[in-house]
Amino acid sequence: MDAPPIRDAAVVFHSGTILAVGSAQHLRQKYPHAIREDLGNVVLLPGLVNAHVHLELSDCRCGKPPAGGFAAWLLQLVQRNSQPGSQIESTVTQAVRIGVEQCLRFGITSVGDITRQASITRPLLRDGRLRVTSYGEIQAMAQRRNLFTERLAVAADATFASDWLRIGISPHAPYTVEPFGFAACRTAGMENHFPLATHLAEAVEEAEFLSHHTGPFRELWKAIGQWDERVPTFTGGPIRFAQSVGWLELPALLAHVNYCDDEEMSILAAGRAGVVYCPRTHRYFGHPPHRWRDMLARGVNVALGTDSCASSPDLNLVDDARLIHEIAPDFPVESIWEMVTIRGAKAIDGEQSIGSIAPGKCADFVGFGVESETPLREILESGKTPLRTWIAGQAVEHQP
Ligand SMILES: [Zn+2]
Repeated sequence: MDAPPIRDAAVVFHSGTILAVGSAQHLRQKYPHAIREDLGNVVLLPGLVNAHVHLELSDCRCGKPPAGGFAAWLLQLVQRNSQPGSQIESTVTQAVRIGVEQCLRFGITSVGDITRQASITRPLLRDGRLRVTSYGEIQAMAQRRNLFTERLAVAADATFASDWLRIGISPHAPYTVEPFGFAACRTAGMENHFPLATHLAEAVEEAEFLSHHTGPFRELWKAIGQWDERVPTFTGGPIRFAQSVGWLELPALLAHVNYCDDEEMSILAAGRAGVVYCPRTHRYFGHPPHRWRDMLARGVNVALGTDSCASSPDLNLVDDARLIHEIAPDFPVESIWEMVTIRGAKAIDGEQSIGSIAPGKCADFVGFGVESETPLREILESGKTPLRTWIAGQAVEHQP
């Protein structure tokens, strides 16, 4: 971990910020007037960071993957977003509430949230209870190309930015945003210090679509019905595509990267972008094994995310950590916890304030009751849920 586990530890915080962390005995002497609470046999971890989620889809149930594969699954989501305005507002409001409540219940205190409905979700999230980096999502390809400027303006609208809500920008994916759009998002992100995110190399068919405009993504466009031939082709696959639009030089968040050959791995490793692997979503779609260990070994930041409830049973990020512990039982458990704390914080550009228990950082914690001498392993090898979660020093109260 960023800081190694401390036995008989204490943490002192004030006004939502950590002042000190160390041995309980030492801190009791140093801060004799602090209000004390003994948590007993609890391991206290940094509040978890779910680096890739779509809160506005939290009312979805993932069921079995559609027979038509990933593109067919996407089409279902496109149809959901074409509900009439009043209906979408109530659906999204309800979904965000469910999503926030689930996050808090599962010990998540910060999220990287992708939102297609920023004008609905941001007013709901601006005042807490969860820390949110809200990446406004843009889709604007082919005949929808002209919508790009307007959609970028919505995504980058900082009206609802607050201590709880940071604005970010997310061109959806290389099969829904053209190179000029990725470049413009990059510029807007750099000018405004907005973090950037996109979905990349999520499905094997992306390369074929980019180079020839054929395959399941083209079928998706047929169903949407607004294709035109002015979309540029690109040869070399999605990772080189991201490189060509200048995205790998930045600490951008690349969700998934489920497909990455050795040459692409070298390209990624030479850049600064980070990867968010979503283990249960990855399993849902039956992708070949993810190369997260190779990526980490090559110095790429890899964090974990749940993705949305449309492809994952729920937002229990610890279950995603459990899945990779199952896949790689020899991989150090401390490093798995890093992927849901400090590496998640890095992925959403928040490592200055969240992701570890250190003086000056936000007093965001999650406590798990433990019995053994190896608590980090114990949590991964059991079905334990948090005993309590704190955000900004306040214990979270769960809402029905
Ligand atoms: Zn996603």
